[in-house]
Amino acid sequence: MTGDPFETEERRRLRELTRRFVEREVRPHLDEWERAGEVPRALHRRAAEIGLLGIGFAEEVGGSGGDLVDSVVVTEELIRAGGSSGLVAALFTHGIALPHIVATGRADLVERFVRPTLAGERIGCLAVTEPDGGSDVAGIRTKAAEDGDDYIVNGTKTFITSGARADFATAAVQTADGLRLLVVEGFRVTRRLDKMGWHCSDTAELAFVGLRVPRSRVVGGFAELMTHFAAERISLAVQAYATAERCLDLTLAWVRDRHTFGRPLASRQLVRHRLAEMARQVEVARTYVRHVAVRVASGERLVTEVAMAKNTAVASCDHVVDQAVQLHGGLGYIRDAEVERHYRDARIMGIGGGTTEIMNEIIAKQLGV
Ligand SMILES: Cc1cc2nc3c(=O)[nH]c(=O)nc-3n(C[C@H](O)[C@H](O)[C@H](O)COP(=O)(O)OP(=O)(O)OC[C@H]3O[C@@H](n4cnc5c(N)ncnc54)[C@H](O)[C@@H]3O)c2cc1C
Repeated sequence: MTGDPFETEERRRLRELTRRFVEREVRPHLDEWERAGEVPRALHRRAAEIGLLGIGFAEEVGGSGGDLVDSVVVTEELIRAGGSSGLVAALFTHGIALPHIVATGRADLVERFVRPTLAGERIGCLAVTEPDGGSDVAGIRTKAAEDGDDYIVNGTKTFITSGARADFATAAVQTADGLRLLVVEGFRVTRRLDKMGWHCSDTAELAFVGLRVPRSRVVGGFAELMTHFAAERISLAVQAYATAERCLDLTLAWVRDRHTFGRPLASRQLVRHRLAEMARQVEVARTYVRHVAVRVASGERLVTEVAMAKNTAVASCDHVVDQAVQLHGGLGYIRDAEVERHYRDARIMGIGGGTTEIMNEIIAKQLGV
């Protein structure tokens, strides 16, 4: 389509680069990483070498340039080419850990945290959720008490993506002045958490016990945390429709091939209509999420539309992965089938980055109720 920001020459090349990366560096190893419970650091370095890790970050901070639309292109292709949302979560955790640090414009923090992470040398995570709750961000309890030029931080974070491998965390803490985001190092990993899906993405519980952190490591407060949630929610929405699209593609190939009662499955009207409905839901989700992403990339501060985009994509993904497993029959329940992994991976989409219910709260507030 002429004028489609997703189909510029540059973005086609970015899509091609991502596809080749998945085919060469990811697909041969993904099953092994799913069993290992994490992706290797070497993958971060490889993704950095070809400029993929730094997409969406300015060259001045060690990134490769590009904006949110470029990040959407990369996320789409990482999944459509045979990767997974778990892979995106593990390899691109810096997408939620770094933006607050970059936004400070502080050279010392960029050199210590941003540049080495975008070079694939360090791993960062975003630590907001606590055992007592995640949805109520304002209610978090991890305490940062002032001690001269430092804070002494005590608390527990849980469900933290890449937490087991992370060298640093952008953590939400309570100070005497309210909620702050503080970049911390030296925390303990108290537990690696086993999960339903996202097996290649490590998830951890972290303990901050008397951590001494310079007060100069504050990189924002509640407002900044909320602002950057937009990009995280759009990323999850993209992961959701891209997962659905991949499952549709896999199912289309399967129903053409699979014969029952002497005919291909694809020849049955019931099957054809199910595929049509899956395709419709993918198309609607992709179109709307991309539309919202373009507006956010152009500088609009959207909250309600982002919440709507996430819920739209999650609903479509939930429907499509379920139908994909069903149409694969017994194979759909077996680990050999890629749709089985997507089915498990997809369940987190309506929970992470703000649940479906919390998105609906945001939408309802906008409606004035
Ligand atoms: C695999 C995985 C990776 C994650 N990665 C990270 C990460 O990297 N960093 C991080 O900080 N967190 C992470 N999380 C945590 C995630 O963001 C939270 O689980 C999520 O925000 C929900 O918080 P909670 O689990 O405390 O549920 P709760 O807040 O306890 O909610 C429980 C249920 O109640 C509903 N609910 C809550 N409040 C309301 C309300 N007012 N009205 C109606 N319903 C309500 C919720 O929608 C949910 O269904 C991750 C979680 C998982 C499972």
